[in-house]
Amino acid sequence: MSQTTLVLLKPDVIHRGLVGQITARIEQRGFKIIAMKMMKLSSALLEEHYAHLVTKPFFPEIVAYMTAGPVVALIVEGDAVVAGLRQLCGATNPAESPMGTIRADFANTIRYNLIHASDSAEASEVEIKRFFKSEEICDYKKIVIE
Ligand code: ADP
Repeated sequence: MSQTTLVLLKPDVIHRGLVGQITARIEQRGFKIIAMKMMKLSSALLEEHYAHLVTKPFFPEIVAYMTAGPVVALIVEGDAVVAGLRQLCGATNPAESPMGTIRADFANTIRYNLIHASDSAEASEVEIKRFFKSEEICDYKKIVIE
């Protein structure tokens, strides 16, 4: 069943010049990007987005990381895309993530783990509204070359 999910390429992806390589993995899997923009996140938005982590001692580190520069936010569409994106990302801790996943292949610390993807269909619905206005979402059909 076709779904949508919210993806964030975190500031170090931009700093390290990995936007193309990571976006390519999403495209190679066959998923469709239907919205994409660069934006700077506020502490208030991060407190909402990471509400489940606000009381953790490392929360200030998350805010420092996620405000170290702009992020690239995407909405990605496709069959079972929520689980598919989580699979492409790998585990939260790159050291526990299989090779071939974005986090294992490009990262080595739990803090600088490069990418966020919604963890459920319910979360993706909330997160897409958090990061995008409806007019920023592009409805299009892929050209089929016969
Ligand atoms: P995920 O991003 O895999 O869904 P979480 O929602 O648990 O995982 O964590 C959100 C983000 O917070 C992680 O992607 C990571 O950047 C950061 N984070 C999680 N755990 C830690 C930790 N122990 N120390 C530092 N940063 C962490």
